[in-house]
Amino acid sequence: MRFPESEFVTLPAPPGALAPAMEIPVRWRASPRARRISMRICPREGEVVISMPPRATRRAGLALLEEHGAWAMERIAALAPAVDFAPGAELLLGGVPHRIRHAPKSRGGAFLDGTDIVVTGGIAFLRRRVADFLRAEAKRRITVRVAPHAAALGVTPRAIRLKDTRSRWGSCAPDGTLAFSWRLVMAPGWVMDYVVAHEVAHLREMNHSTRFWAHVDRLVTVREAAVEWLRVEGPALLRVG
Ligand SMILES: [Zn+2]
Repeated sequence: MRFPESEFVTLPAPPGALAPAMEIPVRWRASPRARRISMRICPREGEVVISMPPRATRRAGLALLEEHGAWAMERIAALAPAVDFAPGAELLLGGVPHRIRHAPKSRGGAFLDGTDIVVTGGIAFLRRRVADFLRAEAKRRITVRVAPHAAALGVTPRAIRLKDTRSRWGSCAPDGTLAFSWRLVMAPGWVMDYVVAHEVAHLREMNHSTRFWAHVDRLVTVREAAVEWLRVEGPALLRVG
């Protein structure tokens, strides 16, 4: 592509508006199969992603951005702040705020102490240790929840894997492998439970038919609330770590 991949595009304030010019973080993405230019917000990076079909011009992309610039800035401003794995950082675990506490002189990797995630050892290893800790917690908590749902439906998953998918919280492969985003460990237990039940139910029905939803509803009663929680709070989970 001829234009830079990522840049800040400055849009003038709308005429007559008492507003500064807008500096919009933009990522240009080549989209070989697209028919037209499209625009979305990437919640993880907090930027506008403009997908460009072959032969689309930068000028046409900018025109679209200009048309929806105010909307884009509103959406980006509304995103939860990015949380880096650093001492003092706050993040959810099971829906409860926890704080990362660095204990350089202690030993034992990373562990919970009340609502502190205690991370031992050198600061250089802290990020990695928090990430490993959260993934291990996710694997443990998800595995514990899969078992009763699988038993209730008389199915056995082939394997349980963790991923860092941006677009889905869970998936069920045709071979019976269940995959989940490790980020679910941050959500309240009942939300995680719904996602787990959903994927386990796919072991019975590889579709979203009435029969499928009947299985899900046998397993959990919080379906709608969980879907709503993920819709509202989910994007913030993508901005952690
Ligand atoms: Zn599904």
